[in-house]
Amino acid sequence: MNKKIIISACLLGVSCRYDGRSKPCQKAIDLYKKRDVILVCPEQMGGLSTPRTPSETTGDGLEILKGKEKVITKTGDDVTQNFIKGAEEVLKIIKLFNIKEAVLKQKSPSCGCGKIYDGTFSDKLIKGDGVTAALLKKNGIKVITEEDL
Ligand code: SF4
Repeated sequence: MNKKIIISACLLGVSCRYDGRSKPCQKAIDLYKKRDVILVCPEQMGGLSTPRTPSETTGDGLEILKGKEKVITKTGDDVTQNFIKGAEEVLKIIKLFNIKEAVLKQKSPSCGCGKIYDGTFSDKLIKGDGVTAALLKKNGIKVITEEDL
């Protein structure tokens, strides 16, 4: 088995979130000790700054990849292309190292897997994937979140 695995950097204590903070998860940190981990932050890799204005998707990540939905910041800017670029960069790393698995941060418009915010910035969740999770799943990568560890 390829021991390499992708993990959302904020789960390991990297301060890459929109608010300039991290979201450390002990189970992800424990995994880091056992596996050969590559940390990624798709939003930074897509060219967004930290801190940054929070964003939400208007629909599922797969629909965003098809050009049918968007990622919009709380102040109304369209950052869809940054999110797509970040997802593509993560996929590039995955292909480069022949990685098959990823642990991504739940509910994020990039990393969320199965649960995302509904695009109204009112803490309402809907079923769906973030843009990076959707692209990885589309390419046959097993994506789980910190809630599955
Ligand atoms: S894009 Fe992913 S890794 Fe980066 S801060 Fe958001 S949830 Fe964490």
